[in-house]
Amino acid sequence: MAGQLIIKQGKEKALLRKHPWVFTGAVAKIKGKPGLGDTVEVLDTRGNFLGRAAYSPHSQICGRIWTFDANEQVDFEFFKGRIERALRMRQAVLPEGTTGYRLIAGESDALPGITIDIYANWIVCQLLSAGAELQRGVIVEALRSVFPEHNVYERSDVDVRKKEGLEQVTGVLHGAEVPEELVIEENGLKLYVDIVKGHKTGYYLDQRDARQAIKKYAKGKRVLNCFSYTGGFGLYAAAAGASYVRNLDMSQPSLDIAKRNLTLNGLDDVDVEHVQGDVFQLLREYQNGEKFDVIVLDPPKFVDSKASLTRACRGYKDINRLAAKLLNPGGILMTFSCSGLLSTELFQKVVADGVLDAGREMQIIDRTYQAADHPVSLPYPEGLYLKGLVVRLVG
Ligand code: SAH
Repeated sequence: MAGQLIIKQGKEKALLRKHPWVFTGAVAKIKGKPGLGDTVEVLDTRGNFLGRAAYSPHSQICGRIWTFDANEQVDFEFFKGRIERALRMRQAVLPEGTTGYRLIAGESDALPGITIDIYANWIVCQLLSAGAELQRGVIVEALRSVFPEHNVYERSDVDVRKKEGLEQVTGVLHGAEVPEELVIEENGLKLYVDIVKGHKTGYYLDQRDARQAIKKYAKGKRVLNCFSYTGGFGLYAAAAGASYVRNLDMSQPSLDIAKRNLTLNGLDDVDVEHVQGDVFQLLREYQNGEKFDVIVLDPPKFVDSKASLTRACRGYKDINRLAAKLLNPGGILMTFSCSGLLSTELFQKVVADGVLDAGREMQIIDRTYQAADHPVSLPYPEGLYLKGLVVRLVG
């Protein structure tokens, strides 16, 4: 054992409730000399076992609990067991015709600091913490034993690694060179995914259910898909028989993939336009007379710290106000926030404020969250980050 973290009296409560983080402020004493990512025992002041954690000396969260079970060691069997149980859950909840999914959602799958996505026969890992980094070898070994036919790619090119004292890393960890064309299926639709240069690990798997939901509203309608990335919502709308779709994104490479995704699904006949530009500006340009029946607002994370919350709310309010003004009577707005620091309640309020400023009356007819392969562990409410409202213009 590389060391021990002794928790201040009274500060062990969260750990007893199985919340997996140890904050520096909760630590009374560090025994031994644990290094970056080492596995340490977490004990209360009386020496009672609380958990076994990965040590992150540079982070405010200095311990991330691997296990609350004193009998469980952090080794190959441990990772294999966690991966197998996560896979069983996905097999139970994933919709048919779906070969792209999140296998490991960090803390919510009891593997803090680890994100693992599956894209057909490729596994993409994102190691976010010092502990995950140290365990890279054994994690890959465990993945290979559960998925012997798969290749493994690492996409640990995320800013949060800085807080952990880690550099960004990407590259093949096992298997072949990444193919230029990697295709996944989602609810029976085919999509190109670029796991090397795409956003996140390649695709926004978390919006799968919301994309499926647009099918209910899109038939015969004019759809505006803002922040389209590779066109997911637009593709589903086209497949559902939309009369017209416009995908908007600032990234031309993403729009190029969006176009190819239509061809891949035999939907070239549908009237779909791709516009590269800033959504904030484009929504303003459309104010002089354009109207849509369904508008999707799926912006990137606007809130990355508590300090940016107010500014981010202004951004959300602005786009929701502008979109509400572009809707035909009975029109549908599907509006999302993937900012974990913005609560569901506050998000609703911000959307309400935007719609109010637009002089419109709207009703919530549905709510969406991150898909089930992005679960939220009950004692870890921080796991919920993506929420959506489907609101309809009264009339
Ligand atoms: N709806 C997508 C995911 C959207 S991710 C899906 O279902 O897959 C957010 C997207 O917003 C990214 O593609 C990013 O390029 C784009 N983006 C970020 N800021 C933007 C802006 N101001 N204007 C237009 N696009 C923007």
